[in-house]
Amino acid sequence: MKEELEINADDLAMIMGKKYDQINEIIDSCFCAHCTDRRTSIVNYKLYLNRLDDVILKGRCAKCNTPVNRYIETGENNEMACVAQHIRMIIKKYRKIKA
Ligand SMILES: [Zn+2]
Repeated sequence: MKEELEINADDLAMIMGKKYDQINEIIDSCFCAHCTDRRTSIVNYKLYLNRLDDVILKGRCAKCNTPVNRYIETGENNEMACVAQHIRMIIKKYRKIKA
C-alpha cells in the first residue's frame, strides 16, 4: 500500500510540467465549506502525494483560517502520474522520511 508522502515545490513543478503555469489559479480557486461564498485561496499549505499519486495541498483558507485541501489530479494524466510515481520512488530511496 502506498502511503501519503510530503513533497516540495520543485517536485510539484516536475510533476505538473507545463501545467505548473496554472499553479496560482489552482491556489486561488479553493473550496472552503466555512466561508459563505465558498471560493477562497489556500495559504500556509504543504504538498503531499496521496495513494493515487494525486497531489494534495493541505493548508488553510485565506479568509477564515479553516483547514482546506486542494487536490490536483494526476491519475488521469499519464505523464503527470508517471513523474509522480518516479518522485515517490526517489523520495523513498533517498530522502529521510519524517515520522
Ligand atoms: Zn474560509
